[in-house]
Amino acid sequence: MFDSLSTKLQKVFRHLKGYGKLTEQNIQDALREVRLALLEADVHYKVAKDFIAKVAERAVGQEVMRSLTPGQQVIKIVHESLTELMGGTAMPLDLSGKPPQGIMLVGLQGSGKTTTAGKLARHLSKSGRKPCLIPADVYRPAAIDQLITLGRQLNIPVYAASSRDKPEEIAASAAAFAKESQSDVMLVDTAGRLHIDTELMDELKRLKNILHPKEILLVADAMTGQDAVQVAGAFHDAVGLTGVILTKLDGDARGGAALSIKAVTGCPIKFVGVGEKLDALEVFHPDRMSSRILGMGDVLSIIEKAQEAFDEKEALDLARKFQDNSFSLDDFRRQLRQIKKLGSLESILKMLPGMGMLKELKKMQIDEKALVRTEAIINSMTKEERRDASIINASRKRRIAMGSGTSVQEVNQLLRSYEDARRMMRQVMGGGKPAKKVKKKK
Ligand code: GDP
Ligand code: MG
Repeated sequence: MFDSLSTKLQKVFRHLKGYGKLTEQNIQDALREVRLALLEADVHYKVAKDFIAKVAERAVGQEVMRSLTPGQQVIKIVHESLTELMGGTAMPLDLSGKPPQGIMLVGLQGSGKTTTAGKLARHLSKSGRKPCLIPADVYRPAAIDQLITLGRQLNIPVYAASSRDKPEEIAASAAAFAKESQSDVMLVDTAGRLHIDTELMDELKRLKNILHPKEILLVADAMTGQDAVQVAGAFHDAVGLTGVILTKLDGDARGGAALSIKAVTGCPIKFVGVGEKLDALEVFHPDRMSSRILGMGDVLSIIEKAQEAFDEKEALDLARKFQDNSFSLDDFRRQLRQIKKLGSLESILKMLPGMGMLKELKKMQIDEKALVRTEAIINSMTKEERRDASIINASRKRRIAMGSGTSVQEVNQLLRSYEDARRMMRQVMGGGKPAKKVKKKK
């Protein structure tokens, strides 16, 4: 998502950075391109127009034009304005007050409500809450089963509703069930329709009056672009939303919904869904999203992802080894295992600066399979070789290649990556003793 917009904006800004000085005309031309890119990304036309007007007002000021890096200044302004457009700061869930608190998930059919209920349950229990799941979609019997299955996977209690129950009855029993199952949050999955209709809205209003939920979150499909924005407006008018969860951002949605929803409806995006799996839910950070769009790399999200997957003790241990320069191939293998735990490499690489870089890396085919081969190579080394790679000469390389079912070239490549990792980490760590270089033996 955002790929095309991102590529276009980066092109505009590369061009802009090329100028030593900017004239008002340069800036206006660039902003015209930005506006077109936004419209192409399916951003609401009025949102795009207002956005450009705001940026222009700030960018055409004397300060920017007189600065030494006017192009950079304009990018900074666009970055800040995009962040503001998407709501400024991340909006956490409000679950204050006496438990159990309710979170109602509403939205059209197929938008991802039930899946998102599971994802949110996982997210909440990871952050120390005790959620339970309440199925209030009785019209499709499969919906109840779907939630029960999710609950079982996550080991989270699910209210045993029957498709013969009325949604209102289920809602009325929810609090008692939460207490009984010692839950402090009730995640209520509701029915959807293909289109907005008053019958559905009336039902949701009744459920709201019974549950008094702290949060009413619209689950909307990002792929539907401006339709999602309209849907958000309609639901907000009818039941009063506290936020939006935008799903399917992993697809090829152009990004218009993410950029317009807050500005058009006033409802902040609180989470985004980035895949079908239960861990594919992210807290929405406008500033990070804005960095991603502008190709500035979402370093913070990478760190957070890494923290979730990495064993902290292990990471500290590795950091120490880098510092005192005792990072061996054994450690390299441990590091690779951690990288594997991070899940799809591609999803991480996507957050790194520059889409161009992603393409380069893709060409190199860094994938899970490559990691498996790399590990096989290291596994075929002797203890000594793993401790001190400098002893790996040509005949050892041949033996290692044979043993791991790879080639000498692949062994060489691995040794180079290992050296690169060492060098890179030394730079990241800063200073440290100068490294003992691995001698290249033929
Ligand atoms: P509901 O009708 O609103 O309850 O929607 P479901 O939760 O049943 O989801 C409908 C479909 O969308 C399912 O196939 C989900 O796996 C899929 N889905 C939900 N969220 C995401 C997401 O963030 N990314 C992708 N790729 N698929 C999703
Ligand atoms: Mg459902």
